[in-house]
Parts: sequence; structure tokens; C-alpha cells
Amino acid sequence: MPPPEQEAAVEQFDAIIIGAGVTGLYALYRLRERGFSVRLFDEGAGVGGTWYWNRYPGARFDSESYTYGYSFSEELLQEWDWQDHYAGQPEVERYLNHVADKFDLRQDIRLSSRVRSATYREAEARWDVQLDNGLRSRARFLVAAVGILSAHYVPDFEGLESFEGAWCHTGRWPAEGMDLAGKRVGVIGTGSTGVQLVPEIAGEVSALTVFQRTPNYCVPLRNRPIDAQTQQRIKATYADIFQKCSQSPGGFMYQFDQRSAMEVSPEERQEQFERLWMEPGFTKWLANFYDVMMSGPANEQYSEFLRSKIRAYVEDPILAETLVPNDHMFSSKRPPCENGYYEVFNRANVTLVDVREAPIERITPKGIRTRDADYELDVIVFATGYDAVTGALDRMDIRGEGGQTLREKFAGGPRTYLGIQSVGFPNLFTLNAAQPGGNYVRVVEPLVDWVVDCIAHMREREFTRISPTPGAEEEWTNHVLAASVAKTLRTGADSWLLGANIPGKARVLLSPPDSALEMRLRRAQIAESGYAGFLLC
Ligand SMILES: Cc1cc2nc3c(=O)[nH]c(=O)nc-3n(C[C@H](O)[C@H](O)[C@H](O)COP(=O)(O)OP(=O)(O)OC[C@H]3O[C@@H](n4cnc5c(N)ncnc54)[C@H](O)[C@@H]3O)c2cc1C
Repeated sequence: MPPPEQEAAVEQFDAIIIGAGVTGLYALYRLRERGFSVRLFDEGAGVGGTWYWNRYPGARFDSESYTYGYSFSEELLQEWDWQDHYAGQPEVERYLNHVADKFDLRQDIRLSSRVRSATYREAEARWDVQLDNGLRSRARFLVAAVGILSAHYVPDFEGLESFEGAWCHTGRWPAEGMDLAGKRVGVIGTGSTGVQLVPEIAGEVSALTVFQRTPNYCVPLRNRPIDAQTQQRIKATYADIFQKCSQSPGGFMYQFDQRSAMEVSPEERQEQFERLWMEPGFTKWLANFYDVMMSGPANEQYSEFLRSKIRAYVEDPILAETLVPNDHMFSSKRPPCENGYYEVFNRANVTLVDVREAPIERITPKGIRTRDADYELDVIVFATGYDAVTGALDRMDIRGEGGQTLREKFAGGPRTYLGIQSVGFPNLFTLNAAQPGGNYVRVVEPLVDWVVDCIAHMREREFTRISPTPGAEEEWTNHVLAASVAKTLRTGADSWLLGANIPGKARVLLSPPDSALEMRLRRAQIAESGYAGFLLC
């Protein structure tokens, strides 16, 4: 408990939001619109979350820009001209800054403000939030909009501190850039980030060494600028675009082909695979035969089709085989979208190192040592991803009733009701654990609307405390655990969604196993029934 003079300096709000990404900004807008006093904290020096931190060359949407942007303001939709079908990081960051300015959000945002701890004060039913700089604030509601992919992960390689060159993680790429020109650069990691980065820098560096653990099924993004006519068409049809997104499982504008890949002739199947291959983005994934998304022969056929495409890109057949995935099936992970990735490996200055074959043993002062060789490097880039979903929560000291920590409670995987709330942590909304994968903003807007409606409902009824019932939490957690061990495509790969990239992390689905569409309907029913599964008092 702070002394009385400090107690007087503690600012009081209805709600505190942690995170100034797309989720937190929208939550701030909505809560304020309903007349709540709100303070938003973010560790970053700018707004945008993912789109503030990920400044690495090549960082770009895999969602179509106009399907990702906010839908809540017609004026915003009509005034913002997306430049590219798949906007790059600078464009998305500009957009989110524009949103912050347009809706006057900055007055309630405090940047460069990392939340160190949040403690629930039972007698007052309020959260006490403390920043790294010691500043404290209090609020009835705490909204954790801390992101699914915001806690960047650097593997604990021995010797990193001895490295004489420069290094960084892609999710902490410095605003002033990294000096890579003419340098010997090593990139560790070939997930979505590494796949975007590698072709962007290959021509600039003197030598590029790519350390690959898992080859992926990368599909061509085929980004292009949006011409004036298309811009007009997009703006005239936003309602239709968002309607389509709301009807799809993951919030994208595509619908699966209702035919099985196996019910059409081999020629027709091949024709569709080839046609979609030439189309942009996720059409190859989400507008394909529906059973390409399921374990079985259709998926096997498509995985093989993609392997043949990779082989065709890479001139050296032995190298090509190293780049071909064979330990998981297509669609068991979100496929990385690439722009010239495979061709890079035909360049004389690019080397691929298979660290499954020869693991990294340590970082040395001069570079990276694998079991088989030493690689001299001037720069190491960690494209090693994130401690997903729970990582950002774990990095704060969140204490609920009886002093229990959320970190301990989630040690075996999130124990929540719908991802939204956890017993023992009243009035805390963990928005980042409640978002099923998909096209993010389409998933987040309805989720935030639900939470804000719930908070407004509590104010109306003069309730001060909301928490799930133990039974509802138990049932939901069992549902998630069952989905985590079910033999489906989604659980068939070592993905970050299952915590598989972090040593020692429980192997449990970190997001709701149900689609965005199902979650929306479920939440609507719960609200209609007076918040069944939650205790309000
Ligand atoms: C490179 C990359 C590309 C992506 N591309 C797409 C895409 O094309 N389509 C798509 O749908 N999704 C994409 N995603 C997923 C992306 O994370 C979401 O689209 C979305 O940006 C998440 O928004 P958010 O607000 O929930 O979280 P974030 O944007 O991650 O924001 C969370 C914020 O919380 C802050 N924070 C965390 N902990 C603290 C703390 N203790 N104190 C203070 N602040 C804290 C962080 O600093 C961060 O700014 C991508 C992710 C990455 C990493």
C-alpha cells in the first residue's frame, strides 16, 4: 500500500487499457464514446502495436488492407486511401496514427509507459496498475489488449553477449534502421517474418546466411498498388466486403469452394490449384476446395502441389529439398506469404543452413557456430517470433484475489471462460486471449463491442464486479484442452499457437479453438441471456 501522499497522486479511471494496437485503440474509442473515463498505456513510443514495433524491411499485411481496416466509421472508410492491396508496415502505422488523431485518442494515451504490475484491490473492486517508472493509476476495469504477437522471443543461445557485431529481433527493429549494406548477415528463423525479410535484404548485404529449422509452405502474396478505379469500387462496396468477412470463419472475405477436391476430375483439380496460385494472398488457402483445410487426401494433394512449386523455384535440387516442408501439412499453420523468397536461394551470396540437421550450438564473438561449422557474421537478425498470447500477460505481475498471479494460473495454458475472463481476476478482460485467429480487426471489433456493452450493462445495473463462474471456466478450459489434443490439422504442426516455439511452455491452444463466427454468435447468446456463465454483483 503506498503512503498517503503517494495515494493522493494515484489517478482514478473507469477503465485502464494496456496496449495501443488495433485492439486497444478501438477499445479506447468505444469506452469513451459510452462516457467512461479511460487511460491507455503502451510500452511503445508510438501507437500501432504490431505496426509500430515491426519495422523490419518487408513487414507487410497478409490480409487485404481494406478488409483489415476499422469498419466503425464510414467517414474514415471513405477518406482513407489504401495504397497497396497488402499494405506495408509504414502504411499501416500511418493509418493507425491517423485513427488516433482523427478520433482524438491521444489525450487518453500514455506512451513509453510499460505496465509492470496490476493488483486487484478486493475491498474496492478496483485494479491498481503500476508502471515501470513507479506511476500508479486505478480503475474498476482492466482491459489487457496486449497482443497475441507482441512479446518478442530471442532464444537463449549461449554466447550472445559476446557477439562483436550488431543484432536485433525483427519485432524490435530500430526506427533508424539497421545498417546492413555490404555486411555479412545471418537471419535465424524462416516463419512469416523471416520469409518477408530475406528477399528484401538479399541484394543489399554482401552475404546472407539463413538458419532454417522448419521449412514452411510459403505462397506468393502478389501484392500490387490499388489503382484509382479499384479504390472507388472498394469504397463503394465496403458494406458488402465486411458482410462477406463476417460470414467467413476467420473474418476474411473468402468462402471455401463447397466442392471436395476429390470429387472433381484430376484435371479440374489441377486447374483450380494453378488458377488460385496466380491469385493474390490467401485465396489459395481460403477460397480453395473446402477439404484442402482438412486432414486427408485433398490436403495431401495440395501439399504436394505446393512442394512441386517450391522445387520449380530453386535451381539446386538438393537445396530445394531442404526448403520443402515434409513434417507438417499445408494449413496446419497460417501460410507465410512471400515475395521472391524461394528465388533468393539461387543467388550466389545466399546460404541456407538446416539447423535441424546441424543445430546452432552457440553464438561466438565472430558469428554463429552450428554443430558442423562456424559462420562469420557482422549482423544477426532474430526472426524467431513471439511468446504468443500469454507471453505479454506473463511479462506483467498480475495479481488477483488472494494474491494469486495470472502467470501461475496460466502456467498450464490459459484457464478462462471464452478467453475473456478468468476466475479470481474480476473485472480483468484478457482480450488478447479471446481472439481466435483470422483477419484481426474483423475479429476484434465485435469482441471489443461485446466487452464495452458488458461494462455499460454493469454500470446501468450498478454492478461493480464481473467474473466467470468456476463451472463455466472449467467447461471452457476442458473444451480448449480437448481441441488441443484432438487430431486435427491445426494441432498437427509445432506452431506458436500451441506454444511449441517456446521451450517449456505448455502445449495448449492459446486462442479459442472455435471460429470467429462461432465465437461471435456464442457471445451474443451469452449477452442476451444476461451474461450466463458470468457472476455479476
Ligand atoms: C509481422 C506481423 C504481421 C502481421 N500481419 C497480420 C495481418 O496481415 N493480418 C492480421 O489479421 N494479423 C496480422 N498480424 C497479427 C497482429 O498482431 C494483429 O493483426 C494485430 O495487430 C494485433 O493487435 P493488438 O492490438 O491486439 O495487439 P498488438 O498490436 O500486439 O498491440 C499490443 C500492444 O500492447 C503493448 N504492451 C504489451 N505489454 C505491455 C505492457 N506490459 N505495458 C504496456 N504496453 C504493453 C505492446 O507494446 C503493443 O504495442 C501480424 C503480426 C505480426 C507480428
